[in-house]
Amino acid sequence: MRPKTIFIDENEEPPSLSVEKTVSPRNTQETSLSFRQRYFPAASQEDWNDWRWQLRHRLTSRRQLEKIVRLSEDEKNSFHFQNATLPVAITPYYASLIDPDNCEHPIRRTMIPVVNELLVSPGESSDPLQEECHSPVPGLIHRYPDRVLFLVTEYCSSYCRYCTRSRMVGRRKSGGRKQWQAAIDYIAKTPAIRDVLLSGGDPLTLPDEEIDWLLGRLRQIPHVELIRIGSKAPIVLPQRVTQELVEVLKRHHPLWMSIHCTHPVELTSETSEACTRLADAGIPLGSQTVLLAGINDSVETMRSLMHGLLKLRVKPYYLYQCDPILGSSHFRTPVSKGLELYQGLRGYTTGYAVPNYVIDAPGGGGKIPLIQETVVGRDGNDLLLRNYEGKIFRYPDTISASRSSVLQGAPQCE
Ligand code: SF4
Repeated sequence: MRPKTIFIDENEEPPSLSVEKTVSPRNTQETSLSFRQRYFPAASQEDWNDWRWQLRHRLTSRRQLEKIVRLSEDEKNSFHFQNATLPVAITPYYASLIDPDNCEHPIRRTMIPVVNELLVSPGESSDPLQEECHSPVPGLIHRYPDRVLFLVTEYCSSYCRYCTRSRMVGRRKSGGRKQWQAAIDYIAKTPAIRDVLLSGGDPLTLPDEEIDWLLGRLRQIPHVELIRIGSKAPIVLPQRVTQELVEVLKRHHPLWMSIHCTHPVELTSETSEACTRLADAGIPLGSQTVLLAGINDSVETMRSLMHGLLKLRVKPYYLYQCDPILGSSHFRTPVSKGLELYQGLRGYTTGYAVPNYVIDAPGGGGKIPLIQETVVGRDGNDLLLRNYEGKIFRYPDTISASRSSVLQGAPQCE
């Protein structure tokens, strides 16, 4: 019999930690092995690779985190107010990527709270996208005519401090099949809905059987053409992408997946393996990234992330301006920063590597693309266009309305 897993001795002093200020990928199979041996000595590699073990051993308290990270005073103090903010949870795997001695480490900043979360700035709201106002039945958001957002769980394996749904994730209890059935009934009686996005919380924290049930019910609705899943599991809990899960997902094509990622340090061998499994199962993968101040707001970081994703067969899809949830000002950048990053990508790298930079409009206006104006005017029949280097070019936009109608009236080839 294997010895019982003993999480870090609560009386043990934090280990002496080396100083490392640069942000580079820390995790390989070897470093996660040494992390496991150091902090979970009773756990086997089989345990570590088991997503349920990862969920059972999430780090959720200051005392647990102090064992692996040298917490700053700011981070420590934030735990006095934990009931007022989003819960803390980090999978051991994701925690193994954190630099224990650098408060500015990107994963640390997105996972470990600071006191600034309590500062409410003008324009912030608990539900800035007004999702609750577009919810015909609990757990379903119907904002655009032909698609719905189906919030199938409020649970995530790890909680992002900037989460748009911090008002609900980790707090409410999922309604389970009864609530899902009401949402499925609504979708079934609304023929305009052709696209269903499963989100939450993280849908991939549900057991295989529940995912199969949900996808199966949705697939029985003839007008549902496309099902998408939004998940951070391949990043924070790559062990979840088992062959068994992939077999379930494959049964319900066409199925697409959006993967929530933040920084190139997340693109480890484990994440690579998870994405490979999904891509090999014929699931088109896209990414969603939130622009975060001091975390991923440089051209170099963003380019490295987007290039890394393409290598994993993940198409960079959206770069989001951070939503103004309560206590988010320390995460938000000016929009000019996002435009600068977009400019730094567009034209300077593969088109596939350039995500759409968008604001999800506060008040429920939907996603609005943000781009520097490229059509700068006309000169006679010439359209004046600005390229990625800021140079102006002309396009002979000379086909007039009358010429178009002549062409339309011309005999057509059989
Ligand atoms: S994984 Fe998604 S839903 Fe969960 S906390 Fe992070 S952003 Fe929110």
